[in-house]
Amino acid sequence: MAEIKRRVLVVDDDVEIRGLAVDILSGEYEVKEAEDGLDGWEKALSWRPELVITDMMMPRMHGYELCKRLKGPDGIAGVKILMASSKPFATDKAQAIQDGADEYILKPFAVQDLRDKARQLLSADAPKPRSAPDSPDLTRRSSFLAALPKPEGPLPVYVHFWGTRGSCPTGGINTVRYGGNTSCAEVRIGDVPLIIDCGTGLRELGGALNREFSDRPVKGHIFVGHTHWDHIQGFPFFTPLYNPRNTFTLYSVRGAHSSLRSIFGDSMAMDYFPVPLSSLACKLKFVELEGAVDLGVAKVSFHHLNHPGVCIGFRIETQGKVITYLSDHEDFGRLGGDSDMSRRQDAAVVDFARGSDLLIREAQYSEKEYSSRKGWGHSTYDDVVRFAEEAGAKRLALFHHDPEHTDDIMDANVKYCQSLLAQDGAKTECFAARDGMRIDL
Ligand SMILES: [Zn+2]
Ligand SMILES: [Zn+2]
Repeated sequence: MAEIKRRVLVVDDDVEIRGLAVDILSGEYEVKEAEDGLDGWEKALSWRPELVITDMMMPRMHGYELCKRLKGPDGIAGVKILMASSKPFATDKAQAIQDGADEYILKPFAVQDLRDKARQLLSADAPKPRSAPDSPDLTRRSSFLAALPKPEGPLPVYVHFWGTRGSCPTGGINTVRYGGNTSCAEVRIGDVPLIIDCGTGLRELGGALNREFSDRPVKGHIFVGHTHWDHIQGFPFFTPLYNPRNTFTLYSVRGAHSSLRSIFGDSMAMDYFPVPLSSLACKLKFVELEGAVDLGVAKVSFHHLNHPGVCIGFRIETQGKVITYLSDHEDFGRLGGDSDMSRRQDAAVVDFARGSDLLIREAQYSEKEYSSRKGWGHSTYDDVVRFAEEAGAKRLALFHHDPEHTDDIMDANVKYCQSLLAQDGAKTECFAARDGMRIDL
């Protein structure tokens, strides 16, 4: 009788890494592939693998969510999960284990390491998965298509920066020119505000929208790159949320630990804030992104970034213009070392920003500062300038300024970036975003 091989499902959107894992394991196991998290979830339910090897940063469904589903009540009892990621951050490893991964392996992995980990997880005493349930729940969170009418001709587009500081609000006399509010940018397309990140700058945007729209309802879209404090702290202070005439849709990917709605709900729990999420009077909808969304006036796509936890950047294509917002991000090669894989990962981020009319890019450290902050998930000025050149960005807005950077330090940082671009003969125009700055496109 032929030997029955154990079943291993490899889930990764990087074709080469996926192919490598398949090559390494194929002799010993029966191996199938899935091209992203959602594909992995569906294939796992129908094929019932004993081991799932999954990447973390993938379109449609990230690896954390896949872990939770596989180990959840609708998942596969006894399945083992090996999370394979290029992210070396301790928080990501801990979160992966908490979400159900049994082991974590850093990519690119050595052949023997992957073999050893697979053997260890599939050791004889590992329980076999149960048979498939009668009716597997294949429910997918639906992608959202807003029912906005298509505009007749190009609408005027501008970007208004309301908060440009990173990490922590930074008031005081040393930051009056660049500002101290944390990350919040408004991309305004005609009458439609498309808000990116909900740092403390969002509070002032709220006041401006109230004044501008007065009795007219605001229909806005809010995109959140990640939910660290500096990107969500302005949310409960955004007064248009308390107006029943207004409608907002908030988009991001699901958190590593919680649903998008509960991340915002928990941040307003009574120990943290006096008004609960349920008291917001506007029509508020949370959408967990699985792919690009078409808002009618704009198409918004996302790409995973290298930052502790789940973090995505956005590319907004509207009225013939491209605006890319990448915050917070540490280049893969810079952190993980040069390899074919890190070059591919960095190139994919560059491709995502390709041809930006305006590239809003986190730029937090000098090379000297970076030497003691490697692994914090942020970029250096040198990396950002090189990135903008490679992406062919017309304009580069330095963003997410370090709280330690006073106005004078910021002036010097901008000059430094401009000098690097001049040395390279690059055409990219570079400036630092400031609170209150408006850029017409
Ligand atoms: Zn941040
Ligand atoms: Zn962050």
